[in-house]
Amino acid sequence: MDFNSIHVLLTYQCNYECDHCFTWGSPWQTGVFTGEQLEDVFQQALALGSINEFYFEGGETFLYYPVLLQSVRRATELGFATGIVTNGYWATTVEDALIWLRPLAEAGLGQISISCDIFHGDALEETATHPGLEAARQLGLAEGSISLEPPTGYRNPETSIPGEAISGGDVMYRGRAAEKLAAGLSTQPWDSFTTCPYENLVNPGRIHLDPLGNLHMCQGLVMGNLFERPLAQITAEYDPEAHPVIGPLLAGGPAQLVREYRLPHEAGYVDACHLCYTTRQQLRSRFPLELAPEQMYGVMEAA
Ligand code: SF4
Repeated sequence: MDFNSIHVLLTYQCNYECDHCFTWGSPWQTGVFTGEQLEDVFQQALALGSINEFYFEGGETFLYYPVLLQSVRRATELGFATGIVTNGYWATTVEDALIWLRPLAEAGLGQISISCDIFHGDALEETATHPGLEAARQLGLAEGSISLEPPTGYRNPETSIPGEAISGGDVMYRGRAAEKLAAGLSTQPWDSFTTCPYENLVNPGRIHLDPLGNLHMCQGLVMGNLFERPLAQITAEYDPEAHPVIGPLLAGGPAQLVREYRLPHEAGYVDACHLCYTTRQQLRSRFPLELAPEQMYGVMEAA
């Protein structure tokens, strides 16, 4: 494996509980990185040699602002490019957003991505006028917005026409989206999902790392735990075909996962992720190390 970017899930906690969230972000979630753990991760990344970028995501990264700031500063000192994903809740005005962002810019932050769509929070911010994006521009940061198209009829049932086909928008139906948004959408036969359309499960360019040490090939689909084995060893020993969940996904997509383990299923699913996620839910007790942690499957009271 020669991936070059680690996307750190700084915390599973979030001030919102968005319907589309892959990671089940919530105020009631648990799990946050400490500064000491992140230093260990940086050193393991240096030892691996191929990593040149750290992206900090969540949950909501700004809930742990001092740790975030220190992590950006330290990653920069060690020569890594950095980026942040946030829901932008802290950007109440441009002037206040500058107070939050200036220390990060001075610490060496390269990019910031702010979610601006109907799924985040109570109000839809106009992307062009989002105070956080404007403050980022003023500080010379590379900035961008993350904006998902909702499924037709989302939060607008009074305007939907009976019998009208409802389509899926940009959302991928895994995590909370599979449980909150899939109902009522048009589906395709379960056995038509014969490939993973989104993730390179053999040799990805980036990998997600959560605060429990899990390295995710896709959210909740784990290749190893960096707190238990060194990153360099995990990547050297990674055998995708031998992985009990990734192997079938490579052989024939989520449909093969159903066939391989002879699992009950519906006639149709909204997309490949919908079938994959609901199938993985059924396999969690069988493969607790590979399908982890509980946070990624919506269990809020996990330690
Ligand atoms: S098909 Fe499965 S492994 Fe691929 S992106 Fe969707 S949920 Fe992830």
